Amino acid sequence: MRIWDCHCHARGNETADQVLRWMDDARIDRINLFARYPGPVDGQYRRDDAHESIDHIAQIQAADPDRIYGLIWAEPRTPGMVEEIEYGIVEKGLRGIKMIPRHWSPTDEMLFPIYEKMQALRKPIQFHSGILYGFEDSSRFCQPVLYEVLVNFPGLRFSLAHIGWPWVDECIAVFGRFRAAVGYQTANCQMWVDTCRGTPDAWREEALRKTIAFCGSEHVMFGVDATPATLVGNAPVHVAKDLALLRDIIGLSETQIDQFFWGACEAFYSPQ
Ligand SMILES: [Zn+2]
Repeated sequence: MRIWDCHCHARGNETADQVLRWMDDARIDRINLFARYPGPVDGQYRRDDAHESIDHIAQIQAADPDRIYGLIWAEPRTPGMVEEIEYGIVEKGLRGIKMIPRHWSPTDEMLFPIYEKMQALRKPIQFHSGILYGFEDSSRFCQPVLYEVLVNFPGLRFSLAHIGWPWVDECIAVFGRFRAAVGYQTANCQMWVDTCRGTPDAWREEALRKTIAFCGSEHVMFGVDATPATLVGNAPVHVAKDLALLRDIIGLSETQIDQFFWGACEAFYSPQ
């Protein structure tokens, strides 16, 4: 069975050879690898830092673009971020962008030029959603319903991470809203659910059962949320736990299981 980890964070100091070796050790066939976070220095986001972060992830992707899908980390307060996105995707061939709302809201008009650019480039955005165990008090900016604004950008594909935990039902309802917007056709829905952890074990079965029952396995993706170096310690455990739940307890078919571990992410990265 092929495994595509839809959610992994580069630290910025890895080499491509290391990443590929760690993927092999973790038995991950393909990975979405987010660029290191280009954080603020003295409250200022710097364009040269964002550029360097893009160049690092592009260099890693270039080692094996079939196995490594590199994503830009887009912090919207960075001057020239839209141009940097264009540089990373058009010139460097990166696959999309990653965003975490850090004291900005997905509904903020500051974001709209980025949404428009990604819609025009036909590349997806992987958003954080759910409580955030980091940064400042960010969770009030990370609730799934805030992403309803993207219905105004119907050509933009996006995913919400962690099934929005603890707002799992809210995340699922948001999916329903986007599916309704395209005549209840899941295949045309612009939203995917990224199920990387967030949901603790005690919640996992219920969260996966509800998400797949409502959204369909073709728009629900497997993810680990590790770094390349910690993949080997995390990925096999998460694969085994999710597989046991999906196959033995929830009772999905092998086709659905294949969609969860591979096909959903493949569709997410295939322009419609
Ligand atoms: Zn993450």
